[in-house]
Amino acid sequence: MHDFAGNDYLGMARDPRLAEAQAEGARRHGAGAGASHLVSGHFGPHHALEERLAALTGRPRALLFSTGYMANLGALTALCAGNVQVYQDRLNHASLLDGAKLAGARARRFHHRDLDDLERLLSRTSDDTPRLVVSDGVFSMDGDIADIAGLADLCQRHAAWLMIDDAHGLGVLGEHGDGCVGRRFSSERVPVLIGTLGKALGSSGAFVAGDEQVIDTLTQFARPYIYTTAQPPGIACATLRALELLETEPERRIRLHGHIAYWRSQATALGLPLMPSPTPIQPLLLGDSERAMRWGRALRERGFLVGAIREPSVPHGQARLRITLSAAHERQAIDDLLAALGELAMADAVAPERQS
Ligand SMILES: *Cc1c(COP(=O)(O)O)cnc(C)c1O
Repeated sequence: MHDFAGNDYLGMARDPRLAEAQAEGARRHGAGAGASHLVSGHFGPHHALEERLAALTGRPRALLFSTGYMANLGALTALCAGNVQVYQDRLNHASLLDGAKLAGARARRFHHRDLDDLERLLSRTSDDTPRLVVSDGVFSMDGDIADIAGLADLCQRHAAWLMIDDAHGLGVLGEHGDGCVGRRFSSERVPVLIGTLGKALGSSGAFVAGDEQVIDTLTQFARPYIYTTAQPPGIACATLRALELLETEPERRIRLHGHIAYWRSQATALGLPLMPSPTPIQPLLLGDSERAMRWGRALRERGFLVGAIREPSVPHGQARLRITLSAAHERQAIDDLLAALGELAMADAVAPERQS
């Protein structure tokens, strides 16, 4: 099967050098960390990784979590104690919504990427209410990018904090693969930055980056950091290797962005229902769940794995194929997938009654 469903955007996950770094790390440090970070599970590679991630994102510090889901639960529960009011983009990732819920915070959702709606909500509470605005950097089911500068300006005007989850931007966007926030926005503008390591970096785990005060608070109060075994040190070794490759092999990022431009021009020529996404997440909006499932099955029969996404992962009537591109793809596989999609679109146009 050709995998057009995963998040291994740079083709790192199957790079033998990551596997070798992981194996070597396991031989040196053991297969598991044996304890939580604060007890005795914090190894040299974990520490080195935190320093590298802080440097990559231009933050004073970074704190490693075992998964992105836990990083979001940890950051939100630790930072939203008391009567913090949380504002979430409607299309935020489930882990952000769950984190605010677990924190017991008062939470409001604003319309997707709608700064006017957010401003309207912010204006309803006084500026001395502690407030946190939360957004995905790249939206995982749509592929579009949050207006980071607009959010940061608005937060500054209303004395609110801003938290960005850049799970799908890290490694892919930014001049150095530092993501949609990265070094272009200081930790004053974006005080809480989340990155995950299981997507473009091909490994596993996640981190929160910010200034001393944020990281100290998390170290003391983020229960998903404190009460869990540290990730195996070999995994941290694999991620360190991935960060090296991110720096020394920019051609991966260049090839990926070439694929994205090619995909969009060819899919447009075929009349496929593209969404406005400049990232490797290139959904085709089919609307009807049955149609999305049917196209997904037909592609699978032809050897292409794509995500068929429907309610409740996306709103009703917005079922889609979530197609993701990777630097690991060959141009031929992309052409073959486009041809298969063109045939499916043609068949639906000829026999539209089958769409019901
Ligand atoms: C995948 C994802 C996560 C969760 O990360 P894991 O490391 O897989 O737990 C968090 N936020 C967003 C936006 C994601 O897409």
